[in-house]
Parts: sequence; structure tokens; C-alpha cells
Amino acid sequence: MKRIALLGATGSIGRQALEIIAVHPDLELCAASSGSQPIDGLAPLTQVGGDLTDLLELAAPDLVLNAVVGFAGLPATLWALERGVDLALANKESLVAAGDLALEAQRRGGGRLLPVDSEHSGAFQCLEGRSVDQIHSLVLTASGGPFRGRTREELEAVAPSEALAHPTWNMGPKITVDSATLANKGLELIEAHFLFDLPYEEIDVVVHPTSIVHALVRFRDGATLAHLGYPDMRVPISYALTYPSRSATPVRPLDVTAGLTLEFEPLDLETFPLLAHARKAGEQGGTYPATFNAANEVAVAAFLDGGLPFLAIADVVAEALEAADGSPAHDLDELVAADAAARRYAEEALKVA
Ligand code: NAD
Ligand code: MG
Repeated sequence: MKRIALLGATGSIGRQALEIIAVHPDLELCAASSGSQPIDGLAPLTQVGGDLTDLLELAAPDLVLNAVVGFAGLPATLWALERGVDLALANKESLVAAGDLALEAQRRGGGRLLPVDSEHSGAFQCLEGRSVDQIHSLVLTASGGPFRGRTREELEAVAPSEALAHPTWNMGPKITVDSATLANKGLELIEAHFLFDLPYEEIDVVVHPTSIVHALVRFRDGATLAHLGYPDMRVPISYALTYPSRSATPVRPLDVTAGLTLEFEPLDLETFPLLAHARKAGEQGGTYPATFNAANEVAVAAFLDGGLPFLAIADVVAEALEAADGSPAHDLDELVAADAAARRYAEEALKVA
């Protein structure tokens, strides 16, 4: 029996994880948390808000599924990695903000870091643990979001409700807006860099509107392996929870007889500059990725509140990156300080946006 602590149990990933756990005879939910919604009785141990590491200490799980949204998920990520407790990671923000600290913690702890993000789960499955020198490059696919093909002019007045209408994935509000701006792919680029130890120039991003191909890995021998399937997060969630086994899920196998076409197109970085900002922040390293993430969280929240135009999200992030010094964080306190500084820069930028 694998005892699972599910953090962010009321969210999009959390609810799908509950579905997987409920029907799997070898998975047991030992603890669950939410940010603010009541979850009494959902698991033997529950916690609403507060310090999630308190819950993890009490629960002593075999695996933590971190499905919290945002930087708030970081302490739980570090808790699991430091202790060698297997971590199924949906909370990409923690790895983006604290990639270096997280990998150091994992080296000390020795546990598994299992990606839940569909692109990274796909790449992880194609890679099968092969060493980095056998890889030519990784390709992450992006659906392009609801605004694919639009010009900047056409995006000037889009409302939150339009950004929240994602064409292929049904997700929480923050990541859905990130998908519309392509910040999500920027976060995923940085996430992939840390997860697979690949330099940024070996990670490409391409638009693939139907989200059937989740990732492609090009190997040095000329072979390319791709991960295909319908866009359904229950597949990567199940894979991370039951790894290295592949358990049955309710997701139907891919039908290749029904006119399946796989289209790819280049990105429009002029209309969606956040991916370029993320790439630069990742290449600069230090706390630049943490700054990118924090400023983006502030800007997305302001957009969802109706207080910031869609296109200004990227401006706020660019200004925070400009203001930051990016110096590396040697410990969690320094990282939290960099995150807080980035939020202040972003709040300043909001006032003039
Ligand atoms: P969501 O908004 O639907 O759910 C977030 C969960 O986190 C909720 O349970 C909420 O109560 C909890 N939460 C929010 N703020 C918190 C806080 N400060 N402290 C503790 N808990 C808090 O989000 P989601 O779509 O399920 O995404 C969760 C994470 O998974 C995000 O990092 C997202 O980028 C990543 N992810 C999601 C998907 C998807 O399909 N939804 C796909 C890939 C990656
Ligand atoms: Mg993804």
C-alpha cells in the first residue's frame, strides 16, 4: 500500500488525483490539504491553509503529490525532496523558483522526483532514465491557448473569461491564463531544464494545437520518441502515482483511424513575449526564474481581478526582471526574499500599467 499525501486536493489536479486514488487498490490517501475550501473527512488527516509541512510531518507519507498552485507549494516540495520521500510534482512554480535548491535537496534526500505536468511526464517516459549525453534535444509542445493566431491588437481588450476558455485542457484559473499568455510554456521550459538537466539551447517549444503529442525527445542517433495521448491529466497523474508501473485509467486509447493529424507550427513570440522572457530568465539563472514566476503570479492575479489588461501581464513581468539583480539564493530565506522583492517590483509596475 502506497500512502499518499495530496496537497491542493480541491483543485483541478487534486480532484483528478482523488479519482485515480479511489479506484486503485494499492493507493491510500493518508492526508489532504486545500488552500481555503473545507475538506473535513476527505482523508484521515486534513489541513486547510497553514504550513503544509506540519501536515506532512504528521502524515509521514510514502509519496507527496504537490498540486498546490504557485510559490506557496515550495515548502512542501523541499520537505519531500530533503527527506527522500517520493514527490509527484504538479506544482511547477516551486521547481521554477527554486530549481537549484530543489535539486540539491533531492541529491541529499535521494527520493524520486516524478513530473506530473503532461509535457514533462511525456518526456520522462520517452527518456526512460537515459543519460543526458544521449539526448540531442527535447521538444515541448504548446497548444497555443485560446488566443493562438491572434495579433497584439486583437488581444488589447480581452476579458478574463476569454482567457479562461482553454481549447484543449480543463485546468485551474492561474495555469489557464498562463497558457493564454504562453507564460505556462516558459515555466515548463525552466521546469524541463531542471528536471532533465538539459541546457536551454537543447529545449525547443513548438505549437501543436490539438495537444495530442505532449513531448518529443530527439536522440543523438537520429531517432525521435514522442509521447502521444488525449489531453487528460489523469494519465500523467496515474503514472506518477503508480510509477514504475502503468496502471489502468478510464482514459481511452488513442484512435488512429479517425483522421488523426498532427500539426506543428512555430511560436509567435512577438504577440506572446512571456516565453522569451522566461527563456532569458532561465539562461541568466540565479533568482531570475524566481523573479519571473513571482511577477507573473502577481500580474495574473491582477488580470483575473480585472485590474490589468491582458497584454500588460508581460510588461509587468519584464519590468520586475529589469529591476531584479538575480543573484543566486543560497538558502530558502534568500529565495523567499527574492520572491518578495519580485512581488514588490511587480506591484509597482501594476500601478503604472
Ligand atoms: P487549482 O487552482 O485548480 O487548484 C489549486 C489547489 O491549491 C487548490 O486545492 C487550492 O485550494 C490550493 N491552494 C491554492 N493556494 C494555496 C495556498 N496558498 N496554500 C495551500 N494551498 C493552496 O490549480 P490546478 O490547475 O489544479 O494546478 C495546480 C498546480 O498544477 C499548478 O502549479 C499548475 O501549474 C500545475 N498543473 C496543472 C495542470 C492542470 O491540468 N490543472 C496541468 C499541469 C500542471
Ligand atoms: Mg503542461
